[in-house]
Amino acid sequence: MDESDVTRELRQEMETRIRLQPDYAQRVGNFGFLELEESWGDEATIINTARVSTTNRRVEKLEDFTDKERHLLYHLLSHNHGTPFESVHFRWRIIAPIFVFRQWMRHRIGTFNEFSQRYRKPLSAFYIPDTEARSVDGFELLTEEQMKRYQQIIEQTHAFYRETYDEVCGRLEEAESSGEIKAGQSGRNPYRGRARELLRNVMPVATYSDVYWTVNFRSLMNFFNLRRKPDAQYEIRMFADAGYEMFKRRLPLLGETMDRVLKERGGA
Ligand SMILES: Cc1cc2nc3c(=O)[nH]c(=O)nc-3n(C[C@H](O)[C@H](O)[C@H](O)COP(=O)(O)OP(=O)(O)OC[C@H]3O[C@@H](n4cnc5c(N)ncnc54)[C@H](O)[C@@H]3O)c2cc1C
Repeated sequence: MDESDVTRELRQEMETRIRLQPDYAQRVGNFGFLELEESWGDEATIINTARVSTTNRRVEKLEDFTDKERHLLYHLLSHNHGTPFESVHFRWRIIAPIFVFRQWMRHRIGTFNEFSQRYRKPLSAFYIPDTEARSVDGFELLTEEQMKRYQQIIEQTHAFYRETYDEVCGRLEEAESSGEIKAGQSGRNPYRGRARELLRNVMPVATYSDVYWTVNFRSLMNFFNLRRKPDAQYEIRMFADAGYEMFKRRLPLLGETMDRVLKERGGA
């Protein structure tokens, strides 16, 4: 399938981001992408937030930590003292198939902003599972032949969208020049917008979308705990695993402490 301009631009942008932040940006799946674009706060933020209730002793940075601070961090995590972890925030850029976002957006404690198929045409990239993704214990569920058909059907759907939209735009131009409808005012064209709204209904959930997710660490921890488990769907698990590694690079002591607590609980 021909790559649309928007899709090509996005591919280039992903490459640029990976060059700029190699430890915090990576591709996932055939077109996906994950970046830990920004974060606010660190282990010292958590300690200082927790200590407001007990002492005036504050720490500036990780280098000031003694065993006391390390133990407090462990104690808070292992005893589910959740609110201090809400003082640290992360902003992720995620390019994933729509069906992955349907699961991701169930995580209500956090904020999402998404690419709009109302204001823009859909991306021409869609999810194609590789051999590992379409196998269980080495047994390939969808054959090469079935995968060909899978791709054909999606490509036909995209072609239907493109052709119909172009046709609608052609008719709109004619109607505008004949005076049947008013030429587009400044700003958004309601005719084209409505056409995109109607046509997006046929787009498959395998189509990629582009999202910002801003989330505090307590909620992020919940996401990692639920979506890194073996029973989470493979595709969202790939993102959760990649995100967990990025988080650990950003806040190594918190990552190490979380690994310890999970191990003690018999988790990952
Ligand atoms: C393997 C797996 C399978 C799943 N299958 C299904 C399925 O078949 N159908 C389905 O609908 N969902 C399914 N889910 C989604 C799941 O039920 C949760 O909606 C999702 O994992 C988000 O978790 P959460 O509610 O803990 O997260 P968040 O929405 O981020 O909430 C975080 C925490 O805040 C608290 N909280 C948030 N909102 C409320 C509230 N309204 N009232 C009280 N406390 C609140 C809770 O303590 C919650 O744990 C599945 C999830 C997983 C991991």
